[in-house]
Amino acid sequence: MGNYDVMQVCLNGHQITENYLKSPQFRKAFCTTCGQSTIHQCPSCGSDIKGAYHYERVISLGPSAPVPDICEYCGEDFPWREKKNRLVKELKENKGDNLFILDQIFDKFHLVVKQLRQRYNDRETLDVGDEYDVQDLLHSLLVIFYDDIRPEEWTPSYAGASSRTDFLLKDENMVIEVKKTRKTLKARQLGEELIIDIARYKKHPDCKLLYCFVYDPDGFIVNPKGLENDLNSDDQEMKVRVKIIPKGH
Ligand SMILES: [Zn+2]
Ligand SMILES: [Zn+2]
Repeated sequence: MGNYDVMQVCLNGHQITENYLKSPQFRKAFCTTCGQSTIHQCPSCGSDIKGAYHYERVISLGPSAPVPDICEYCGEDFPWREKKNRLVKELKENKGDNLFILDQIFDKFHLVVKQLRQRYNDRETLDVGDEYDVQDLLHSLLVIFYDDIRPEEWTPSYAGASSRTDFLLKDENMVIEVKKTRKTLKARQLGEELIIDIARYKKHPDCKLLYCFVYDPDGFIVNPKGLENDLNSDDQEMKVRVKIIPKGH
């Protein structure tokens, strides 16, 4: 005989802990993968989300239970299910809301990086260590959704900058810029560089939307939401979106 613990999940469907009661130290107010807030109860009926099963006097080390898509008490979809359904629908209809699709890729990017490290028998893998690795992996992921991806290599004008590849999605009039934070590229430097890049792309004839993807696995950016808000803009000439992931280190 035993009993179920409670599961805590972020609104994007990432599992935080399945031992919410037994190990309160693993609870998190925000998801460290994507920055979303977390729940442990159904938003519709308030029932606990079922977590790990604890046998009496047995320590379970089995794999964790999958995150459920619907509430078993009231039958309503959990918030993350609606997102999944919408992604499938967008792709089927092939009209693709680009910001929505890119958000899905960027939100999952850190999970993809971690998953790639889990190879059978420790075989060789793409381990994302620097900005070039981020570019290459992101390029591969974009191929799933976009047919015409044009890598644009250039050398930024800021001091000590090495050459970089951005991606032009010509049919979508969009440029995706990729950065990875490091000791010498924290919030202040990153903000300065992005301002220069934004000015540069305003002159680009094919760029109506600039999406800057910043990968910050080591948490050099202390206030990612603040930096995003400072730089995001809905300018008629060119929209700017900045996304820093993962958040909430
Ligand atoms: Zn999450
Ligand atoms: Zn419910």
